[in-house]
Amino acid sequence: MPRTTTVAVVGGGIGGLAAALALLRAGFDVRVYEQSGAVSQVGAGIQLAPNCARILHRLGVLPAIEKSAFAPATFDFRRWDDGRLLSRTPLGAGIAATYGAPYLHAHRSDLVAVLADAVGPDRIGTGRRCRGVNHDGTGAEVRFADGGTVTADVVVGADGIHSVVREALYGPEQPRFTGHVAYRGLVPAERLSRLNLEPRCTVRLGPGAHFVHYFVSAGRLHNVVCVVEEDSWTRESWTDPGDSEELRAAFTGWHPAVGGIIDALDRPLKWALFDRPPLARWSTGPVTLLGDACHPMLPYGAQGAAQAIEDAAVLAACLEGAGRREVPTALHQYESIRRGRATRVQDMSRANGRRFHLPDGPDQQARDAAMASSFGLSPEIDWLYGHDPMVPETAVA
Ligand SMILES: Cc1cc2nc3c(=O)[nH]c(=O)nc-3n(C[C@H](O)[C@H](O)[C@H](O)COP(=O)(O)OP(=O)(O)OC[C@H]3O[C@@H](n4cnc5c(N)ncnc54)[C@H](O)[C@@H]3O)c2cc1C
Repeated sequence: MPRTTTVAVVGGGIGGLAAALALLRAGFDVRVYEQSGAVSQVGAGIQLAPNCARILHRLGVLPAIEKSAFAPATFDFRRWDDGRLLSRTPLGAGIAATYGAPYLHAHRSDLVAVLADAVGPDRIGTGRRCRGVNHDGTGAEVRFADGGTVTADVVVGADGIHSVVREALYGPEQPRFTGHVAYRGLVPAERLSRLNLEPRCTVRLGPGAHFVHYFVSAGRLHNVVCVVEEDSWTRESWTDPGDSEELRAAFTGWHPAVGGIIDALDRPLKWALFDRPPLARWSTGPVTLLGDACHPMLPYGAQGAAQAIEDAAVLAACLEGAGRREVPTALHQYESIRRGRATRVQDMSRANGRRFHLPDGPDQQARDAAMASSFGLSPEIDWLYGHDPMVPETAVA
């Protein structure tokens, strides 16, 4: 009987765990190697759009995610100062009926716990920091900081924007600071009760900044992301404890709900937002990349994790049925299906960054007029939410 193809996934984030699960379901012998002492995520929320909820459903984990998630009624854009509604997209049952999958808000830790549980703790090695990858025509070896190595028929670098696997394949290249930083935090919902916040995802757009907030954890917590512009990021770390006074000052003059939410935030974390230009190749021999390792994007389409989950589904489908010798061809097929779409979503996210931060004036008025004409669930978003990576006709949008 032929030996089962072995896969080493470097990185136990959302992308790595989704890939491990999809590959396990397809019959591969998979191990995940995560540098941290536990698979865990920053305390923050995440939006799960129908294009990734559909895949999570197929992987059998959507019911468990739904249990702790929150299903928002609408997605609203509002003006920064007077809070005027600029556009409203119905979510809830309507979007689930249109796209065959729901739009959810989850706590990242809940999502990762469900994925890790489905993969199985015995398949996840923690405290394993990858230092490099070597490969030849027949397999690959992953080297770890603890001096250990593992060999596998396929290696998947799902190790995020600062990917070591990417560097091993294509050399060093610093990600670019985008000039945007995000303050993030979670607030217990009861602290916000006097604001009477509705069960919606709200994005408030203003000059040089935007403010996103929505419920997670079955409504027990409110997730807050406040994006502002800074000229440079000189600190060595990618995250810093945020200064609440600095945050309050950045949103002076905004709608009172914004100040009320900031007042309720315990010390938020401050993240520098980086991106990279699209990569020409994702795979070499039996080694490939997935998620932020190959297509990091600004969070302004709420699609980074969704694209990593789409990668996972396509990767497993391309490898399924490929013999060990056909692995490089299968990986080439995977990236050729995924690259165009991931690049399109990266471009959309970058463009949203500019649109969201327009100063008041003619361009902002034109933007708001365009938004006002797109109240409702517009077919213009079909390419994003309606995409099913397992259906060839829609695979390359
Ligand atoms: C403010 C903000 C809001 C966002 N909101 C959304 C949203 O609403 N919806 C959405 O879809 N996306 C969103 N994103 C994007 C999303 O978080 C990322 O795209 C997604 O987490 C990428 O997953 P990943 O597994 O590829 O990488 P990561 O989440 O970065 O995971 C990489 C993993 O690899 C591990 N690792 C790194 N180096 C090594 C190594 N050398 N050896 C072993 N392990 C290693 C890390 O510890 C980590 O666990 C947002 C991002 C930000 C910054």
